[in-house]
Amino acid sequence: MLVVPGQPLELQAVPVPALAEGELLVRVTACSLCGSDLHTAHGRRPHPVPTILGHEIVGRIAALGPGPAPVCVSGRPLAVGERITWSVCASCGRCDRCLQGMPQKCRQLVKYGHSALRSPHGLSGGLADYVQVFAGTAIVPLPDTLTDTAAAPASCAVATAAAIVRTIRQQLAGFGPDGGSLATRSAVVLGGGMLGLSVASLLAAGGVGRLVLLDPVADRRSRAVATVPGLVAAPPPPQIDQAWVASLLGPAEADRSDGADQRFEADGFDVVVEASGAATSIPAALELTATGGTCILAGSVSPTPGIAFDPERVVRRQVAIHGVHNYRPEDLVTAVEHLASPAGGPLGALAGPVFPIERVNEAMALAATPEALRVVVTP
Ligand SMILES: [Zn+2]
Ligand SMILES: [Zn+2]
Repeated sequence: MLVVPGQPLELQAVPVPALAEGELLVRVTACSLCGSDLHTAHGRRPHPVPTILGHEIVGRIAALGPGPAPVCVSGRPLAVGERITWSVCASCGRCDRCLQGMPQKCRQLVKYGHSALRSPHGLSGGLADYVQVFAGTAIVPLPDTLTDTAAAPASCAVATAAAIVRTIRQQLAGFGPDGGSLATRSAVVLGGGMLGLSVASLLAAGGVGRLVLLDPVADRRSRAVATVPGLVAAPPPPQIDQAWVASLLGPAEADRSDGADQRFEADGFDVVVEASGAATSIPAALELTATGGTCILAGSVSPTPGIAFDPERVVRRQVAIHGVHNYRPEDLVTAVEHLASPAGGPLGALAGPVFPIERVNEAMALAATPEALRVVVTP
């Protein structure tokens, strides 16, 4: 557990609490380290301590609380021994935000791996032998074909990516006769970490017309190209200009048109996803968005300095800017289905290496390097 931010994690014995109705005790089988675990461990964002980190968790049900068995997202009662993953948040289901379809912003939200040890939700981090799973959590059983390691990133990175792609489709549905179709759209993802790769993998599986990923690290670009079919990777340019945008969009413009008179010069990408959280990347994301395009900001999850951007550009281009943070239950279902599908297989294969929990500090150190994508810890 994290006792002092900036210091190594400590292994400590913690009593297992009695389960209430609707709760589960899960024996953890894998927990992958997310960028936000690193932000917290290094003290880059406020967090109560001591705390058990880890919110990308897979495990087997070890015990059920009293009363009727909790159900999975499809409504089926769960049983001891089932292998599951679950949403990063538990929601009340009754507050205004839950009722508005934003359970991830519930007024009584409990986030796994984000609670003080000395709280009613102390045993909720995945860097432990057991996790208490609370009522109001979306639980998704895992298919046998999906390994613990490959499934671990589902409950944060891949499900958040699914929420991003759902948001994009909802936005596109308001434009033109082809509704939310991705086939005629161009997309650029900024950031080749697990979130960016997950978005790219889902967009490719959704048949997006043109897919570009920007990342300054050559190894990360190579990994993106090897993971996502049809993806073009490039370093972000020092200065974004029309010629550069056209060089990435050019061939696809001809491909996607029906005839010569349909070929218009694009002024940017229809879909832009900022998945890196780097401060310099946010104005670039806005700059890259085409007229009528959608710009999703999802990477900024620790305090970030303010940015300067040209509001006239946003107005004249009718750019839609969406923030996406966490996700709804159906997004976790999409994430698990994608990882278990042939299209998502290469994405799941990126998780690792695996460290036993006794070496959690080695795992945390490796996870902090730019080459690492999803280091996995097993109890
Ligand atoms: Zn996370
Ligand atoms: Zn609520």
